[in-house]
Amino acid sequence: MISLNTSANLSQAVNLHENIHGRGVMVVDDSSMHRYSAHLCLRAFGINQVYEAANGKLAMDQLGQLAQVPAVMLLDLEMPVMDGIEVLQQLSELSNKPAVVLASSSDEVLISAVATMAEALGITLLGAFRKPVNPTDLADALNSYNVGVCLIDEASGDAVSTDVGQLKSALDRARIQVFYQPKVELESMRVVGVEALARWKNQQGEWVQPSVFIPLAEEHGLIGDLTLSVLDQVLQDMNGWWDQGQYISVAINLSAKSLAEFNLANEIIQRVIRQGIPAHYLTFEITESALVVDLPSALATISRLRLKGFGISIDDYGTGFSSMQQLSRFPFSELKIDRSFINGAPARQYMRNILKSAIEMGQRLGITTVAEGVETEAELHLLKSLGCKQVQGFLLARPMPGRDLIGWVEQDLQRKSTICQTSNIG
Ligand code: C2E
Ligand code: MG
Ligand code: MG
Repeated sequence: MISLNTSANLSQAVNLHENIHGRGVMVVDDSSMHRYSAHLCLRAFGINQVYEAANGKLAMDQLGQLAQVPAVMLLDLEMPVMDGIEVLQQLSELSNKPAVVLASSSDEVLISAVATMAEALGITLLGAFRKPVNPTDLADALNSYNVGVCLIDEASGDAVSTDVGQLKSALDRARIQVFYQPKVELESMRVVGVEALARWKNQQGEWVQPSVFIPLAEEHGLIGDLTLSVLDQVLQDMNGWWDQGQYISVAINLSAKSLAEFNLANEIIQRVIRQGIPAHYLTFEITESALVVDLPSALATISRLRLKGFGISIDDYGTGFSSMQQLSRFPFSELKIDRSFINGAPARQYMRNILKSAIEMGQRLGITTVAEGVETEAELHLLKSLGCKQVQGFLLARPMPGRDLIGWVEQDLQRKSTICQTSNIG
């Protein structure tokens, strides 16, 4: 399962979360040799508590008996009695479950499909690899334990109130804030625009994630109000930046439900005209999956906005199962490739192929390609070599309040562009 020669050297580089040391790791694999090599590798990382199970059933039985659930499960997929997929399904039903690292001899597409399934089931996935797993990859996966678990906790919204009354009152009092994440042109490393992302601090002072309150707004008929509240703040912020000589374009997310609202396009057009902002400085992002919900309404809203000169972007491209035929019906000006294709691409050939064909499709259609969720220099480098036009992601900047944006544009990008040049990207 793991090539041993480098694992001992890595022990210095591994800085594991205390949970991993305290609760240990369980290795689930039907090959005793693979279990043994994984065990040795984990010990070399300084993990003393290593449990082993020869198939899924034995692993689940052991989990039921342990006083403390191990922090991480290193899970094979192909096993007799109970395979790894069944284990993931059963884990998803436990309130206290380990994070998972998948390691399998199956092909990459299958491993990736199972990885997607695991995440959809709410399991914290630290990594998914083909055997033999490189100890460096395993170390990186285990090192990400802290980050992964925190992000899931934050995104799950478990700790925050999702009361619709509070959301309504936040909307009435204009308490939904807009943060901005820069979009940078790869060729020049210039900021070409920002994406507006809604943020809500509830009455308890906790930040509620859009993944929690956007569905709530959609469900309770508040999404139109939310969109217009975001638009109003964006127009106000744009005017402020323009006064300082920074003509920054902004992209606003439109939910699938909004597309079906007959009057929304009119409201948007009127408000933008009233604020004196030319339409081509604004783009509306529409998730790929929204296009298949209500085709006639979506086409009407999108076409009207495009007709007035607004940009239209397909968001999260690659996740929505839209056909080429559906895509060709919409007047898009931009294609935003979902971050799942970006993050997997440097290490996976088939992901790279998908990414390449998405970028090529954008080029053939004559529209701008934007890569979302760029987190590493390797991803940035790859995107540039594939001809992607623009990037957005934590590597460059996290979403920030409007008042911080001009400072960032003037100072931070200078630094980032130096980083990129020294890593041979510029
Ligand atoms: P999206 O439109 O695809 O926005 C990108 C999301 O990816 C944002 O999450 C952003 O913070 C996050 N992101 C950016 N770079 C990175 C990165 O390098 N790594 C990672 N892991 N994440 C990154 P956020 O702000 O939580 O928004 C989530 C989704 O909620 C958005 O996805 C969008 O679909 C929706 N949303 C946000 N604001 C609005 C809004 O005003 N209206 C509507 N209808 N939807 C919104
Ligand atoms: Mg978006
Ligand atoms: Mg997106």
